[in-house]
Amino acid sequence: MTDRIYNFSAGPAVLPESVLKQAQKDIWNLAGSGIGVLEHSHRGKVFEKVLDQAERDCRDLAMIPDNYKVLFLQGGASQQFAMIPMNLLPKDRTADYLVTGVWSEKAVKEAKVYGTVHEAASGKSCNFTRIPTAAETKYSAKPTYAHFTTNNTIYGSQWTTEPTPPAGVPLIADASSDIFSRPIDIKRYGLIYAGAQKNLGPSGVALVIIRNDLAEAGPKEIPTIFQYRTFVAERSLYNTPNTFGIYAMGLVFKWIKERGGLQAMAEQNQRKAKVLYDHLDQSKMFRCNIEPGSRSLMNVCFRGPDEEMENRFIAEATKRGFDGLKGHRSAGGMRASIYNAFPVEGVEALVAFMREFEKGAGS
Ligand code: PMP
Repeated sequence: MTDRIYNFSAGPAVLPESVLKQAQKDIWNLAGSGIGVLEHSHRGKVFEKVLDQAERDCRDLAMIPDNYKVLFLQGGASQQFAMIPMNLLPKDRTADYLVTGVWSEKAVKEAKVYGTVHEAASGKSCNFTRIPTAAETKYSAKPTYAHFTTNNTIYGSQWTTEPTPPAGVPLIADASSDIFSRPIDIKRYGLIYAGAQKNLGPSGVALVIIRNDLAEAGPKEIPTIFQYRTFVAERSLYNTPNTFGIYAMGLVFKWIKERGGLQAMAEQNQRKAKVLYDHLDQSKMFRCNIEPGSRSLMNVCFRGPDEEMENRFIAEATKRGFDGLKGHRSAGGMRASIYNAFPVEGVEALVAFMREFEKGAGS
């Protein structure tokens, strides 16, 4: 038996057990150096190796072409909401945003500080219960880029394929909650970013994959620390980075590689989510409001008959060792976040508990 419970948190989220065990050792003494990973200088040889390896494994995993840079930045995905328009949206230009939830809306808000935003599509009118279709998406005449959120952590919807902006318009993705959960064709993007704390590691570090021309495109008048070129020139070491975050991401990249890479993750994630959605679709008590075809494989959101029953379910589940099932405060209901590292047995155990709860409530 283990002293750990099933953690359905949306992020920071569950990490692979082998990663945590390795980190326990390396916190004490990293690579025989006599110094723990938290204590190493970011400019020393030992950390340099950690950074190199993390970048290499990241590139291998996602087959990142040579004309893209891999950056490990601070400020989370939220800083990217601002850095992107700061660097890529001149005052007199328009950027297109595809709005599919709270996080896209936050990205829009930041972009409006710098230039004009055109909402090329919005799921607001249907309460974000599905991803807009291509036919519903209307791009502006000459957007400087098109931004979308690959997976909507709060509502539990996910794009199955990328939107296709007009030729030559860089596609930018906030992939915070599904990065590396499936194969990704980097060439289709100008920039991809993700806070690490769901699929990649601990909080406090964001992965940014950016095409070279975009990394150099920003104005030089903005603060140095907000220019992508700064981190390209300094290989993410402009200032002291989140060394532990980068180290832990490196371990997670290795773990994904050992498990068969992104295709294997995708297959496992399909299987895992299916167990839960299949149950929801036949349940008389619980339901998923997201339309099939738009449902997230990462954040499975569901509702009960009323709030009282939902609260009872969450409380009972917590007692039984299923933690983090309460939906986001802005959405209510329940949310089971089942990222790459979440074990299939945990999903099966949750479904068994849901069955039992439903039966008990009906009798
Ligand atoms: N985008 C998405 C899709 C998210 O789920 C989150 C966090 N839950 C964010 C952005 C914000 O990330 P951070 O807290 O790293 O700024």
